[in-house]
Amino acid sequence: MSDETRPRGASDTSRAASRPGATSVDPIDILAGRMDAAEEGLLTCVHCGFCLPACPTYRELGDEADSPRGRLHLMRAVAERRLDPASDAFQTHMDRCLGCRACEPVCPSSVPYGSLLESARRVARSAVPARKRSAGRTVEVMLRLFRHPLALRVALSAARLARALRLPTLARRLAPGGRVGEGLRFGAAMLEASGGRGARPVAPDPGRTSRLAGAPVGPRVAFLPGCVQGSLFGRVVDASDRVLTRNGCDVARMGAGGCCGALHAHAGDHDGSLDLARARIGEAERMGVDLVVTDAAGCGAAMKEYGEWFEANPAWAERAAAFSSKVRDVTEVLAELGPVPGGELRRTVAYDPPCHLRHAQRADGATATVLAAIPGLEVRTVADPDACCGGAGIYGVTHPELGGAVGDRKVSEVRATGATCVATGNPGCMMQIGAGLILVGSRMDVVHPVELLDESYALLDGER
Ligand code: SF4
Ligand code: SF4
Repeated sequence: MSDETRPRGASDTSRAASRPGATSVDPIDILAGRMDAAEEGLLTCVHCGFCLPACPTYRELGDEADSPRGRLHLMRAVAERRLDPASDAFQTHMDRCLGCRACEPVCPSSVPYGSLLESARRVARSAVPARKRSAGRTVEVMLRLFRHPLALRVALSAARLARALRLPTLARRLAPGGRVGEGLRFGAAMLEASGGRGARPVAPDPGRTSRLAGAPVGPRVAFLPGCVQGSLFGRVVDASDRVLTRNGCDVARMGAGGCCGALHAHAGDHDGSLDLARARIGEAERMGVDLVVTDAAGCGAAMKEYGEWFEANPAWAERAAAFSSKVRDVTEVLAELGPVPGGELRRTVAYDPPCHLRHAQRADGATATVLAAIPGLEVRTVADPDACCGGAGIYGVTHPELGGAVGDRKVSEVRATGATCVATGNPGCMMQIGAGLILVGSRMDVVHPVELLDESYALLDGER
């Protein structure tokens, strides 16, 4: 019997046998295996409740079932086949989780909540047809789109065109009332926010911008433009490219529109996430690089977990682990190199760390090093930096009330800093916070931290 087909209860309920890289297994067995693995490693939930105040859905709703501890109870009930995974209770409370993982660093038992949630979402998704899932059709259409680079490019090009024609602004103003109208208004504001009202792009010219004058001396880097980031935030991708080059990296971009599979993993689309991960691993191998770099925190968090995703798959385990060991956020690379200082930039910026950099990658300290390389920049920390902005993919569209409540809190805290712009390192967070600012009539810009360093270099070069 193969590792992929042994029943639960046999000795295969180890962490490795329960990884999503293993195929042809009942998703409930995978969830059960993961929970057993947590127990075996003495990592199980001790019901202390330390995670409750850290959880944005619990803070908004005050319902134990919408807390990490409550969701773990539900997962356990399904894993032990005491609860139907198609039940409203399981479907609703798994669906409402933002996947922000703010519950992980505060947990004294190190419960691997993020990995358990991915398994639980896979169980929930396979238990109910798409048309019956909450927000099912919207999410399913998106997941399918993100698996096909050409179709995705067409869709994102259409979104860019709509943005250039200011159609989202019109849609936001004309959106009707009610739940659907709220979702439409928020989605339109997100697309509008991706345009970056304060962005001042500079034409890429690595020959001119490399201060090292000569061959790069730093690592050879495969830079993932990503799907959403690469298309809607081209200015951020260009800024990252210039900044890495200036700091001595030899940058080669991975294929445009290549998705890392994070959205699929978070939504429980197991096959979709693994297909996309295999494509990215193969691409990086062909490029023969020292590092794989992204400026999207959600993509970085997923790619750092490829090794775990394929742990039970002998054909891919070694390749996936080698790939993950090379993955870095752009700010991590710059912090490791010691960023070249830029020109004086007199601005006040509110920094808000993305959950997938702070909680999932535990790497947001690097951003402070990057911002410290900008003379004159005043950095103000947003209150409660552990709290999610409510982004979580298209959560603001699929859950307008709850996403809106979580987002409103973040927007208030960002505005309370009195800064002229807010910096955060993930496209979903940039769109979520940007949309919230637009909807309250604020003129604050939303930027990626590397954009500020890029602007500082341009000032040093006398371009602005
Ligand atoms: S903090 Fe950890 S151990 Fe405590 S209730 Fe939450 S998940 Fe369980
Ligand atoms: S991932 Fe975020 S929303 Fe989900 S249980 Fe943990 S803290 Fe709550």
